[in-house]
Amino acid sequence: MLCEVCKDGFKESDVVVCTVPMVPYSARICRNCLKAGAIPYWIATANTDIAGGWDNCIEEWKDVVNDTLKHLNISMEQFLKDVEDAQE
Ligand SMILES: [Zn+2]
Repeated sequence: MLCEVCKDGFKESDVVVCTVPMVPYSARICRNCLKAGAIPYWIATANTDIAGGWDNCIEEWKDVVNDTLKHLNISMEQFLKDVEDAQE
């Protein structure tokens, strides 16, 4: 089984299914990612795009995305580029 955030395999006992904040989606997340407050990266980019771009996102969402980027070691620059790519 793979964690939807870090794509690492995890033990059956570490399975956590939780809802993504502000998104109607339940993700399979390992305890490490859960503790970091991270969400699946594609949801971060897709939902930011739907919101009309980073500048239009509410602070609560930005917090979630910032935690996710930090946890996955992805730069804000890369993230904004990926959001742009998602629009195509
Ligand atoms: Zn994980």
